[in-house]
Amino acid sequence: MSGIETDILIAGAGPCGLMLANELGRRGIRTLVVDQDSSVATAPQANATQARSMEHYRRLGFAHEIRKLGLPPDHPTDVAYFTTYSGYEIGRHRMPPSQDADRIVRELEHIWNAAELPHRVPQSHVENVLYEKARVLPGVEIAFNTRATRFQDNGGSVTTWVEDTKTGAERAIVSRYLFAADGGSSIIRKQLGIRYSGGDPAERDFMGGWMLSVYIDAPAFYEKVAGERAWMYWTFNLRRRALLASIDGKGKFVLQTQLREGESVETMTKDDCSRLFLQAMGCDLPHEITGFASWLAGRALATEKFREGNVFLGGDAMHLFTPTGGMGYNTAIEDAVNVGWKLAAVLKGQGGAKLLDSYEAERQPVAVRNTRNAASFADSVGLYVPSPAIEDAGIAGDAARKRAGAYLANHGKNEFTIPGFTLGARYNSSPVIVDDNAPRPPDIPTVYVPSAKPGGRAPHVWCQDGASLFDKFGFEWTLLYFNAADAGVDAFAREAHRRGVDLKCLDLSGEPVAADLYEQPFALIRPDQVVAWRGTLPEAAEIRELFDRVLGV
Ligand SMILES: Cc1cc2nc3c(=O)[nH]c(=O)nc-3n(C[C@H](O)[C@H](O)[C@H](O)COP(=O)(O)OP(=O)(O)OC[C@H]3O[C@@H](n4cnc5c(N)ncnc54)[C@H](O)[C@@H]3O)c2cc1C
Repeated sequence: MSGIETDILIAGAGPCGLMLANELGRRGIRTLVVDQDSSVATAPQANATQARSMEHYRRLGFAHEIRKLGLPPDHPTDVAYFTTYSGYEIGRHRMPPSQDADRIVRELEHIWNAAELPHRVPQSHVENVLYEKARVLPGVEIAFNTRATRFQDNGGSVTTWVEDTKTGAERAIVSRYLFAADGGSSIIRKQLGIRYSGGDPAERDFMGGWMLSVYIDAPAFYEKVAGERAWMYWTFNLRRRALLASIDGKGKFVLQTQLREGESVETMTKDDCSRLFLQAMGCDLPHEITGFASWLAGRALATEKFREGNVFLGGDAMHLFTPTGGMGYNTAIEDAVNVGWKLAAVLKGQGGAKLLDSYEAERQPVAVRNTRNAASFADSVGLYVPSPAIEDAGIAGDAARKRAGAYLANHGKNEFTIPGFTLGARYNSSPVIVDDNAPRPPDIPTVYVPSAKPGGRAPHVWCQDGASLFDKFGFEWTLLYFNAADAGVDAFAREAHRRGVDLKCLDLSGEPVAADLYEQPFALIRPDQVVAWRGTLPEAAEIRELFDRVLGV
């Protein structure tokens, strides 16, 4: 098509846009990412990278680099609850340091049926890795200081006008598709007239209203805190709640607290931020406030439409979370993974129109599921009101702290150990999944029931040689087969070859655990590690139909 400068123009170099650039660039798709800022995010923002995102980083070959970032390797990642930080510790949910992640993910296979555990690292560090990996891929270009201002869908292409934020110069870029990863204020979503649904923000004592993020240098915190080291420190008292996340385990923190009536970020000063921090501390402490910002908690929003013509939405541009549970950025990563291989397959002539339609069919229900789960965590912690005696010395205070501690330790487990939430999303109404009649596994945030029923993440196993099954998958499609003598494999390989589809046929005949989990002689795994189909050997014509179906042809 003449005049087309790039295949995909991505507006926004946040986690969603950068992950998509990695998915597309790895497949040789010409991609231009524009971002209005001068660099990737510098504020820590998200601190929870979920197991599923880590599995995707592993698939792309850099999970181990991300695992090294953030807290020191031996630093616990506990979530601990206090009255004030120098007052009483009342509850703790223990989680391991990053140096133990590889060992523990194997030991806890019955809980984490996964190749990776979650990781606690600031979003800014992750974005930096995503940026460094994407920018060196052939065909990928990333332009900062470049704001998308409007677009026009021409049918076979999209013209997007971008402005140089330094000079004000405007130019038009023609791409085959436009992808809006431009965050919660997305101008592209607004131009499409697509609105979020989900109602007004919930009001809560905490995580339900305007929040203040305060960036703090306070190495002396560790001398005063009334408990062992943790990744997150929460306060519970009747004056004001707070949440302090450790950025580097050495003294850099971000404090989140909710603004009260009459308080506003516009009139806030660093001295005010200091006062809030010391209130949460419950004692004096040398520290420096390095910055602050505000954001709105209480939302659980998703758009109905994720696509209009040649324009796609992803990440916060189509769903907005309250960050309890830590799923906003993680959902954005999975959006990018889902759409990346599909756009590439269509641009290469392997996929049909239905493949692109399946993006909304698959991801919209997941956005609703995930935002609702996050809201339920916010209710659990944000509506909980401690007894007035919680800070008192003596028996009444001890009893109040015991009661609150039991509640919060249980809440901590429910919010932070969530294999079912992160691994268990399913694409039940997808046009490109061949469903079977097997029952659906339960959808419970704290429990992941591995199932190879098509439409879900492929169940993981540690193979006989100690390797992760996922490391044996191909980068594109993988056919798992459990009987080495099965001649049917060749029929699949021939059909894939005829279509130019990269299919790896993986002999799992020596893997009884995998055979038990997958339940059928064959399973077809998509590039995003989702089971597309499983069953017995179809006839040659049926194999053609199967590929037509899963490629949306
Ligand atoms: C305090 C806090 C804590 C959080 N904690 C977690 C957590 O632990 N785990 C989690 O999963 N999520 C968390 N989140 C949510 C997470 O930060 C977001 O969901 C995530 O950043 C969304 O990524 P995105 O790429 O969709 O959008 P963004 O990160 O918002 O990126 C959008 C990008 O688009 C650019 N842009 C905007 N408009 C334009 C334009 N017109 N032209 C060009 N560029 C443009 C912006 O500069 C930006 O770089 C948290 C959020 C907050 C506020």
